[in-house]
Amino acid sequence: MRCAILFLTLGVGILPAQVNPASQAARKWRETHERAIVGEFFDLLAIPNIARDRGNIRRNANLIAKMLEKRGVKAQLVEHGPANPVVRGEILTPGATRTIVFYAHYDGQPLDPKEWATPPFEPVLRDRSLEKDGRVVALPPAGTPFDPESRIYARSASDDKAPIIAIVTALDAIKAAGLKTKSNIRFVFEGEEEAGSINLEALLAAHKDLFTGDIWLICDGPVHQTRRQLVAFGARGVVGFDVTVYGPRRELHSGHYGNWAPNPAMELVRLLASMKDDTGHVLVDGFYEGIEPLSETEKRAVAEAPPVDVELIRELWLGSTEGAPKKLVELLQSPSFNIRGMASSRIGDQASNVIPSTASASIDMRLVKGMDHARTIDRVVEHIRKQGYFIVDADPSAEARMAHPKIAKITGREGYNAARTSMDLPISQEVVRVVESARGPSVKLPTMGGSVPLVAIERAVGTRTITIPIANHDNNQHSSNENLRLQNLWDGIELMAALLTM
Ligand SMILES: [Zn+2]
Repeated sequence: MRCAILFLTLGVGILPAQVNPASQAARKWRETHERAIVGEFFDLLAIPNIARDRGNIRRNANLIAKMLEKRGVKAQLVEHGPANPVVRGEILTPGATRTIVFYAHYDGQPLDPKEWATPPFEPVLRDRSLEKDGRVVALPPAGTPFDPESRIYARSASDDKAPIIAIVTALDAIKAAGLKTKSNIRFVFEGEEEAGSINLEALLAAHKDLFTGDIWLICDGPVHQTRRQLVAFGARGVVGFDVTVYGPRRELHSGHYGNWAPNPAMELVRLLASMKDDTGHVLVDGFYEGIEPLSETEKRAVAEAPPVDVELIRELWLGSTEGAPKKLVELLQSPSFNIRGMASSRIGDQASNVIPSTASASIDMRLVKGMDHARTIDRVVEHIRKQGYFIVDADPSAEARMAHPKIAKITGREGYNAARTSMDLPISQEVVRVVESARGPSVKLPTMGGSVPLVAIERAVGTRTITIPIANHDNNQHSSNENLRLQNLWDGIELMAALLTM
C-alpha cells in the first residue's frame, strides 16, 4: 500500500495538458452526465459474463449492440463455429482514408462469489478502495458530482467492460459537441478473451473484410503505476513445457540403495541449473538468436519510463533482483526462462527417506520479437539432449528406461510469438500525439511484460496493434473485488473521445 501512496504523490504533479477539443468536450459532457454514465455502466456490469455461461454472454452481446445502436452506430453480432459472438460496430466517415479499430472484451475471469465482499454481478460504489476500508455508498443523485476517488466494484468493472462504457460515452460527447469522426471506425468486442481467445483468429480470418483496419487499438489492462497513461506497442510471447526425468521404477529406501540408484530430483536440479546462470542469462545454445534489437526510439522510451523498482522491492520483500543493476522495465525487453513449479516425492511432515522415482518441472518462457516459440522449444530440447538425455513425449517403457542412462519426457509446447509495433511509424507517433493531447505526458513501452496473443490478430487481418489501457493499476483484475477508480473512467472517456476523432 505504501507504494500506491508514493505513486499517487508522483502522479499529482502531472496535470494533463488537455488541448484536444474532443476530450475537452468529453469532460464537459461527463461532468453533467455522471449519474447516467454510471447507471448505464451498472446495467452492463449486472449481466454475468463468464465465457462458458453462453446465455448470459449473449445477453451481454445484445446489450452492447443496443448501446452502440443507441448512438447511431451500425452493430452486429459476428458468429463463427463455437465462438462466443463478437460484437462489431462500424462508423463510416465520408471521405475517410483510413480505418481505426477499437478492441475490448466483454467477458470476465471466472470467480468464486464467496471471495467477494459484495456479489460480483451486483455493482456497487465504494467511497474508496476496500484496502482503505472503503464503504458502500449510494449513487449521488443526478447533477451531484461523484467523488473521483470512489470506486465501482464488480467483475469486469475494469477488465474489460470499462473501455466499452468509455467509448459509448465518448460517442455521446462527440455528437453533442457537433464534432465529427475523421477516420472510419470499427469496434470489436470479444466475448471469450479470458478463456484464451481460442476462436478469435479463426473468426477474424473467416470474416476478414469486417475487421481490417490501419491500426487496432487494444483497450485492455491497467495504466502505469504512477497513474500516467500507458501506451504499449507490444506484448511478449509465451511458450511452456513440462519435463520429467526418471529414477528407479518405484521409490527406493535411501539407506539400502543410496549411492547406487540414480536420484532423478538431483538430476533434474542439475539439468535446470545448466539452463540459466546466476545473472539470469539463459545458457541454451541459440536462445537469444534472431532477437530484433530495440530501435533508438524504443531504447529512449525504456530509459524514460518512470522507475518503480525501489518501491516494488520493498513491497515484495526482495533481497536482490536477478538482472541487477538493470531495472525491471529494461529486463522486460528480454526473453525470460522461468521454473513455474517443481515436484518430486514429498517434503515437510510427509517427507520419507526415499530415492524418488521421478522428478518434474514446469517451465514457461516469455519471448520477444524475433523469437519463434516452436524453435525456442526445439533449442531447449536440444540442450537437454546434449546433457545426455534420451527424449520421449510419453511415459517411457521399461525397455526404454533400461536402454538409456538418462531419459526425459517433454510435454506441452503450446505458445505464441511476441508482437511489437514500431514506435517510429507515422500512425504510432500520431497515436502518441493524440493520447498526450488528451492525457498529458504518457509512459510509452515497446512491450508489456505479460503476454497477449496480438500476433493472432495481426496475422488474421494483416494489421498492427497498439495497446491503450484505462484501468487503475490496483484494480484487482482477475481476482476477487475487481474495481475501477472513477477518475480512471473519466480519463478513459476523454481519451476515447480523442482517439475516436483522430
Ligand atoms: Zn482483459
